[in-house]
Amino acid sequence: MNGTAWPYPAHPRTPWAPLLVNAALTGQVLTPARARHLPITPAAIAQDAAECVEAGATILHLHARDADGRPDWRPDTYRRVISAVRERCPDAIVCVSTTGRDEPALDRRAAVLELDGDEKPDMASLTLGSFNFHSGASVNEPDVIVALAERMAAAGIHPELELFDLGMAHLAHRLAARGLLPDTPYANLMLGFANGVPADARSLVALVDALPAGTVWAAAGLGIFQRPAGALAIAAGGHVRTGLEDNPDLDDADGRGLARNVDLVRRAVALADALGRPVATTDEARRELGLGRRSAVVA
Ligand code: ZN
Repeated sequence: MNGTAWPYPAHPRTPWAPLLVNAALTGQVLTPARARHLPITPAAIAQDAAECVEAGATILHLHARDADGRPDWRPDTYRRVISAVRERCPDAIVCVSTTGRDEPALDRRAAVLELDGDEKPDMASLTLGSFNFHSGASVNEPDVIVALAERMAAAGIHPELELFDLGMAHLAHRLAARGLLPDTPYANLMLGFANGVPADARSLVALVDALPAGTVWAAAGLGIFQRPAGALAIAAGGHVRTGLEDNPDLDDADGRGLARNVDLVRRAVALADALGRPVATTDEARRELGLGRRSAVVA
């Protein structure tokens, strides 16, 4: 590389930064009954992680499940998942979830941020507001969001900001004003969820314009919107989140739940190829986000 910092300013004669592909492998809600190839155990998650990294993913968005397949916030469970993933993909960017959908208590949501050594996550999700999913509410009170951001900043863990609607961008600015965001914030724009912002270009532009300056952004589309959201983002200089967490169906609306994580990563990479966008290596991804190399992180 030539040492010039990404992202370049937008200009017709400068290329977009190499594409960051974020693979959300398991999620909080899906079961193997709905997504046949959903990875649940640490070994299965690590196997999917390895396949996805081989196919072009550089960020791995992880949720932990207990032995019965239920969502599990406990750090020891996350430690087993991260350990298995790092064994297979030592350089990939590991992002954990601090979701409050099943566990509202702040200390439990934040417990994963205390992992250290080789199991310390690089990133953690930070949803910037409460939201009505199709099946119920996800409650994120402002004080809880700020407290999670404070703990991430104190631990040196990079937030994956999640926005489901335009108003959530406001809190990103408040966090930035309090010095709680890194120099290069990273935001995932969650498009096409019922009750949220639609997966269309007008909404995407409004969301991107509402983010703090310099935010590296990605689009994630729910279900059938995964592919168009990815295409919009790739063409517009953003990045992509894909994976079973957001879409279990390979043939879009067939509802058969037959997608594998690696299929969805390959589909995003094929879209990037079609649009002439290079896909980032792990080193490029770490540099775009201002993250250190793994060896430096561990040392
Ligand atoms: Zn998630």
